[in-house]
Amino acid sequence: MKLRIGQGYDIHRLVPGRKLMLGGEEIPFDLGLDGHSDADVLLHALGDALLGAASLGDLGRHFPPGEERWRGASSVDLLERIVALVREKGLRVVNCDLTLVAEAPKLAPYREKIIERIARVLGTEENAVGLKATTNEGLGAIGRGEGMAAFAVVLLTSVEA
Ligand code: MG
Repeated sequence: MKLRIGQGYDIHRLVPGRKLMLGGEEIPFDLGLDGHSDADVLLHALGDALLGAASLGDLGRHFPPGEERWRGASSVDLLERIVALVREKGLRVVNCDLTLVAEAPKLAPYREKIIERIARVLGTEENAVGLKATTNEGLGAIGRGEGMAAFAVVLLTSVEA
């Protein structure tokens, strides 16, 4: 069995007047993440981990922030496109593990829905998706609530003929 590991990281600023999208879920909050797409930091980290594991470059290469067609893009849609590229390389997801770093809001009420969505897009069982959240203990920019970051790791395996 051929295995490939990938890691991804992303960070976005929190600003007024934007929806907060995390894991494809719209989460009620007084601020939202700023970006060219819907700025779903969790799915961007996951997308980069998938691209990295498949040696397919990065999110910015596939969906350049300068391109008008990706303005306001759904990151679920971007993730679906990435999964299709990964499949074209004869690879499938074994499991993934995500960590959101944010002072607020609490992710727990949305956790199950997010895991369900990610598993569906990746084509895995729900127990193949790890999702954790931590604060930055008030330290630095994230600690001051100026933004959110996310880390992802993913394991791919070759699809047997
Ligand atoms: Mg991003």
